[in-house]
Parts: sequence; structure tokens; C-alpha cells
Amino acid sequence: MSKDKKMVKEITPQQEDFSRWYIDVIKKADLMDYSPVRGCIVFKPEGYEIWEMMQKELDSKFKETGHRNAYFPLFIPESFFQKEKEHVEGFNPELPWVTEAAGEQLEERLAIRPTSETMIGHMYSKWIQSYRDLPLLINQWSNVVRWEKRTLPFLRTSEFLWQEGHTAHETEEEAKAETMQMLEIYREFVEDFLSIPVIVGQKTPSEKFAGAVETFSIEAMMKDGKAVQAGTSHYLGTNFSKAFDIQYLNRDNQQQYAYTTSWGVSTRMIGAMIMVHGDDKGLALPPKVAPTQVIVIPIGPAKKREEVTEKCMELMDGLKQAGVRVRMDTSDQSPGWKFNEYEMRGVPIRIELGPRDMEKGQVVLASRISGEKKFIPQEQLNKEVLNMLDDIQKQMYDNAKSFMDSHFSSVETIDEMKAALEKQRGFVLAGWCGSEACEHQVKEETGATSRNIPTVVTEHKGKCLVCEEPAKHTVVFGKSY
Ligand SMILES: [Zn+2]
Repeated sequence: MSKDKKMVKEITPQQEDFSRWYIDVIKKADLMDYSPVRGCIVFKPEGYEIWEMMQKELDSKFKETGHRNAYFPLFIPESFFQKEKEHVEGFNPELPWVTEAAGEQLEERLAIRPTSETMIGHMYSKWIQSYRDLPLLINQWSNVVRWEKRTLPFLRTSEFLWQEGHTAHETEEEAKAETMQMLEIYREFVEDFLSIPVIVGQKTPSEKFAGAVETFSIEAMMKDGKAVQAGTSHYLGTNFSKAFDIQYLNRDNQQQYAYTTSWGVSTRMIGAMIMVHGDDKGLALPPKVAPTQVIVIPIGPAKKREEVTEKCMELMDGLKQAGVRVRMDTSDQSPGWKFNEYEMRGVPIRIELGPRDMEKGQVVLASRISGEKKFIPQEQLNKEVLNMLDDIQKQMYDNAKSFMDSHFSSVETIDEMKAALEKQRGFVLAGWCGSEACEHQVKEETGATSRNIPTVVTEHKGKCLVCEEPAKHTVVFGKSY
């Protein structure tokens, strides 16, 4: 077996074992490594650079909408958690505690933050005195820890990286508008930048954030039909203001509690992106998020190598000036090895240039997604590459969208739901009366949980799929990561 063939063989086909495929790809593409601490991974440069691309794009969207970055402590005093009842109940099982430092027992043990509503609530109560201090719009880029029993790299790890936005407002309307604005920013980011179609909607009460009045989410479908919650935005009402005494003097000179929100996305988006776009060749990165958009591979005999490499450098300079993220591989590996390697790493476009192309004044462009090869006059390279990057970005979205649409069923009863999920794993639309008991029964009998109550539905259900009472909501159910 040739070396080229062997490399692809090391990736388990998706149809054979999707979970195995996922682990093979992230290891082979060198995105991460396991650390000696259970459930905690190391983001290697290839993986961390993807996160940096996401951060850069989101950070500019946050700033465009008036938010500023700050940083709050990693440790949270235990007493802070006791102040919001639902919050402590929700997070307590997952908290790691610091009880001792510098050889001494601490007077009050400190939690390592799972999220920062409590710490930020405490600080906001000092900073917010008057309506003139509002709105307060702050975001934090940080790590958080939730001690998970079952972990999966990027998708669920005990420590992960994220951003958490925390805002405080004068009125309920303003805070609700902020909650929806941030949800829309996430939707746009995930759909346009990551080419992942999502279902936008509201979480049911049993699935909402601990301490929130309302939680909204965007839900994406992986290639095995499972759901990943890709981002959440919470309207907190005055729950945290009351717990942390965030009061201000309003325009009528009255003391009033501020209305707050929080919203976050994390490194699990990396996992989602791999599971939505990857295939049996490996990773497939949408051009906008790909740290390397174009890989240049010089081809041909050693005696012509210098001339070819020089031309490649010249073409690369042009591409860089056009804003394209381009790299060249001049290593002594065979061209076949390089083709496989960069396909496996998900680089959207490959450029090949050999002595014969030089004579003809052309270059070869190959797409990671369609596999299509084009011969392009060198002077048209920049234009062609920019167009092709756009096309690939759209094509990846369209592929993911038609996959999601073809794995979406609509049912009237729980038996129909079971049958639908047995036939093919995916999302299921059904009516729900609003009772927690019915929601629980769906989970018990089918393994699927409510993903969200979609903001936009084409079809409204009349009856609950379990008890057949009138449906209060039409809900999307699915098995999830
Ligand atoms: Zn019911």
C-alpha cells in the first residue's frame, strides 16, 4: 500500500462509526491532544487558530454593537452561589472547589467559575448607581470549568474557552431587545461565517439556563443527526439584580432593580463545525474561518524546482495583497502526499503549479468541497480564488442545509416519533402541551430532548404528542451531544 493511501485509511469512515471518525479527524489534523487532567484538552496551534478566527469575527460584532471587553476573577466565593437559588442548584454538581491555598485552609471556599453571573452581579451592584450608568454592556473572553462526567473533545470538556456577555438595562424592553440582538448576532455568525444552518428558538423551562427568565438558543444538526446547542442568549429579568442588589436611581428619582442579560458561545463551535462539514477525507473548513484558505504546492523535477517556487512566491504575494490567507508547502514530501494532507486538514483551495503550467502561463485550482479542478490563466488568479472562496462558503452552507432538511420529520404522536427516529436520526417537530411530565416522557421513551421552540415554524401543531391535550407550543426535539 502506498503511503498516500495509508493516511486516509487511518480515518474511520463516518458510516462505520461517526464517533470514531470524529476522534480520528481531530487527532490526525493535529487540532488537539489529551492532557493528563481528565476531561481537559490541549488546544494545539492548528485548533487554537480556528478559535482565534472565531474570536476575531465575534469580537468585532460585539464592539460594533457597543459592547466592551473586561476581565473578572476565576475564583468565586461560595456565598455568591447561595444568593440565587436556581443558579446554585443548576451549577453545584459541576463545581470544583479551592479549599486550601499556601498551606492554609481558606475561611470561605472558592469555586472555579462555571460562568460569571454571580461575580459580575456583585461588581455591577457597585458600579451601577443611576440610570446614567446604564446600559452597561460588557463582554469577557475567558475559560470556565464544569466538571463533566462524560467528555468529548471540543464538544464537552471540563475546562473550555468561551465568551460571556453581561449587560444591565433600565427597562425590561431594552434587556429583552438586547437578548434578541445577541441571539441574532450568533445566528448570523454561525450561518454566514461557519456555514452552519441553525434552528433559532426559545428553550423550554426545564432546559433553560439556571437563574434565567428566558433562554434562547441556536441549534445545529451534526452529520450523525444529533443536535449541538451552538449558542445561548438569556434574559435574566431582575433575578440576579435582586440577588446581588443591582439597584439604581431611575429618571423619577426612585430606586429600581436593573434588568440583566447574559449570552455566550464557546469552543464547542469548533466541534460542531467539524461534525457538520467533515467527511471521510477529514476536516473541511469554511473559507471565512479557515486559518489557511489556500495551500500552494509546487510540482515538478528538482532541477526546475527553484524556478517554480519563485513563481509560486510571486503568485502568493498577489493573493496576500488581495486579502487571502495563503501558505506554501515546499517540503520534500510527494505532491500526492501533500494533496491528501491538506484535504485532510480541510484547506478550502489547493493551487498546483508545475513546469508545464509555467509554460502555459496557467495554474491549477482544486476545491476541497467539490473536488473540481480548474486551469486558470495566472493573471486571473486573484479574481478566481476570491470567487471560488465565496462559492465554497455558500456551497458548504447549502450542503449542510439540505442535510438538515432531509433529516427533519414532523409527527403527531410519540409512537410516530419513535418510528421516525428509528428510521433515521434527526430533528422531529411535534406539538407540546407545556407540561414537564410530557417532556420528560419523550426523553424517557425516545432519548430525544426538546431542543427549542422555534421562532419561525412552517407548521403549527394542534395537539401534544404525549397527552393529546391542546398544544401550547410546536417544539423541535432531537438527540443531542
Ligand atoms: Zn402533554
